[in-house]
Amino acid sequence: SVEASIPEPQRDAWKKHSAQGFTTKEQFEDETVRHVETTLARSLFNCDELAAYSGASLAFRDRLVIEWNRTQQRQTFADQKRVYYLSLEFLMGRALDNAMLNVGLKDVARAGLKDLGFRIEDVISQEHDAALGNGGLGRLAACFLDSMATLDYPAWGYGLRYRYGIFKQEIVDGYQVEVPDYWLDFNPWEFPRHDITVDIQFYGHVSRHEDEDGKNIAVWEGGEIVDAVAYDVPIPGYQTTTTNNLRLWSSKASKGEFDFQKFNSGEYEASVGDQQRAETISAVLYPNDNLERGKELRLKQQYFWCAASLYDIVRRFKKSKKAWSAFPDMVAIQLNDTHPTLAIVELQRILVDLEGLDWAEAWNIVQNTFSYANHTVMPEALEKWSVPVMQNLLPRHLQIIYEVNSQFLHMVEKQFPKDRDMLRRVSIIEESQPKMVQMAYLATIGSHKVNGVAELHSDLIKTTIFKDFVKIYGPDKFTNVTNGITPRRWLHQANPRLSELIASKLGGYEFLTDLTKLNKLEHFLDDKDFKKEWQEIKYANKVRLAQHIVNTTGVRVNPKALFDIQVKRIHEYKRQQLNILGVIHRYLTIKAMSAEERKKLAPRVSIFGGKAAPGYWMAKTVIHLVCSVGEVVNNDKDVGDLLKVIYIEDYNVSKAEIITPASDISEHISTAGTEASGTSNMKFVLNGGLIIGTCDGANIEITREVGESNIFLFGNLAEDVEDLRHAHTYGNFKIDPDLAKVFDAIKGGKFGDANRFSALCNSIIDQGDYYLVSDDFNSYIKTHTLVDEAYKDQDAWLEKCITSVSRMGFFSSDRCIQEYADMIWNVEPLVPEQRNGK
Ligand code: PLP
Repeated sequence: SVEASIPEPQRDAWKKHSAQGFTTKEQFEDETVRHVETTLARSLFNCDELAAYSGASLAFRDRLVIEWNRTQQRQTFADQKRVYYLSLEFLMGRALDNAMLNVGLKDVARAGLKDLGFRIEDVISQEHDAALGNGGLGRLAACFLDSMATLDYPAWGYGLRYRYGIFKQEIVDGYQVEVPDYWLDFNPWEFPRHDITVDIQFYGHVSRHEDEDGKNIAVWEGGEIVDAVAYDVPIPGYQTTTTNNLRLWSSKASKGEFDFQKFNSGEYEASVGDQQRAETISAVLYPNDNLERGKELRLKQQYFWCAASLYDIVRRFKKSKKAWSAFPDMVAIQLNDTHPTLAIVELQRILVDLEGLDWAEAWNIVQNTFSYANHTVMPEALEKWSVPVMQNLLPRHLQIIYEVNSQFLHMVEKQFPKDRDMLRRVSIIEESQPKMVQMAYLATIGSHKVNGVAELHSDLIKTTIFKDFVKIYGPDKFTNVTNGITPRRWLHQANPRLSELIASKLGGYEFLTDLTKLNKLEHFLDDKDFKKEWQEIKYANKVRLAQHIVNTTGVRVNPKALFDIQVKRIHEYKRQQLNILGVIHRYLTIKAMSAEERKKLAPRVSIFGGKAAPGYWMAKTVIHLVCSVGEVVNNDKDVGDLLKVIYIEDYNVSKAEIITPASDISEHISTAGTEASGTSNMKFVLNGGLIIGTCDGANIEITREVGESNIFLFGNLAEDVEDLRHAHTYGNFKIDPDLAKVFDAIKGGKFGDANRFSALCNSIIDQGDYYLVSDDFNSYIKTHTLVDEAYKDQDAWLEKCITSVSRMGFFSSDRCIQEYADMIWNVEPLVPEQRNGK
């Protein structure tokens, strides 16, 4: 048992004094005030909201860490398989509100903070977002952590502790300006583990030696050593004491490496320089979403994090004293995209070079341990590393990759003896100049399962990038796990009133752990009071967003207008350009209307938000166009409330929590076949907003669940995209006539100096329109007319919204994690006693 770890004579004393954490309001106040006074050394007489936030967070942290300790002990003693989720990004957002709700003490905290003179909302909003991610991929990892803890899976996340998360976006004169996000000033949610430090090696060379048994082994020598220091973040499950761990690695100059020679001989600056170079590894998150740039420092980050995590996982396994063959029975490692693919190579290196296993035996263990989730088929996002760069940084790993490739190609050659082109196509090494290591192939070959993140996407990977691999391994290696979102953060936390209303109808909050229970909401479609309250809640959420908009932009929007929202990373494939060109079309249409016609039109607020990668000029131009159109439209008295165009600065998780519940309609309008899944589409529908979207990613499954009459689909299908692109290049490409008028307005200077937008216009008009903006424009505009019409019938609209929410059960990340656990990881939950007893 867990207790047995304490020596018998001292057991009672330890038990008696063991920390319990608060449960009552008085205890919460005691703990909060004590932390403000002692941990923070603040005088109580000038305690501000930040101090109240800090004190309350530390009180909750104590509770979490007590359960964290118990969970970790329980998991160690249970001696069962654990999941390790490797992700280069975790877009966690704020932790305090989530901790309060998950441990079920938000009401206690609210009352306690009130006694101390604070409003809980003001305290919560003091927290700086933990923004260690770019967008969907990182937020998915955060939702998964919540679900894994809630479902009591023994699971750890492993990531990097970036000193600077995703940059803060400021909009200055209608342009994006990036400001560094230094988020670690005060972070009560992490525990530095200076005792858990791993030496990570880079560069150097490989030599061959004979070991004691006469076996020829590779030895990686020389180069430089950097330390990886662990920082642990407790992850509480909802309504369970299971508290899992997110371990983030921070880089530091190795003590052994610090050049005391230089230091002592007066070269102080040079020795400190080494220190800084080491710390650079975990200094900054690369701000690209769905784009790979192949920078050496990025490869260094990847290896640093994979090697530290693998060392930790292997160390934990070795404590069990089991045979190596049991490794895959104790360890499942999930790769979130290809970023952690080097972990595959690192485990093979550990097993063969350090532990002395035979190559084949080791490789069998590796393949049974790893699984890989693909997130994109877009060529510019697929990771490839230059062989010379890898040779220099990780010479032994490159040798292992070549050996893996050689054995794989021999296997393929046996299976398809006459197909030489197949060997070229599936080789991990691309024979380009320079040669490149194709990480998606390596990840596929080194894993036992590969999944896409929505049905269409999982089908696409099997017919495009992994087509040959399906022939080689058979179709069973490839599977689908449609993404999901946690209903705790994205309904209960972001939209507390809606959550409460739903609970009042369903007889409790069980839907938060079994989202399919929402389907009972359809019984209340005739309940007038229920519908009225639903509508009031949506209106209140819109008022809250309108307040945020006026506070941050100075523009007043009418909360009674239709709120049309597109918030996500700015990317050509996500087609914010289609949206803003459609908005311009609407503006021109309004301007041409008679007063009578205008009266019939539903007022609209078009809301945009999202960051552009700093080097992505086209995306930045889109932001500038949106802001420039807003400048004109919002000041056009002739248009008034009929149209407003808003750019919300610095879109992040905590903003998403305000924005998502306030939509009437949201836009998920990617070029078909490019958006692997999308998750904000799920969030908006779950919060009672409808969506306009293309037949792409999870939109397709959302349609299947909510019904075609409750979603506004438009545009060309994925299967037609290639033909259309071909026709653009070789046919007679003619731009859509309505879109041509929009371009005329831009070129005529209606939104200021047209030169600023010429690259954007030209990419569509005379550079092939790769993202098919023109092809989909007509259908997009027509579908928006249908939205206008539908919105006029508020009763019918409301019914669509409630029906849709009731059918969103499938999109819980709990369902998603359950599928990973059953189909891919083969891991069982470890349920704590209290929950068993319940
Ligand atoms: N960025 C943030 C801050 C999010 O919260 C989310 C998901 O809600 C995303 C990006 C992903 O959005 P999408 O699925 O629209 O790309």
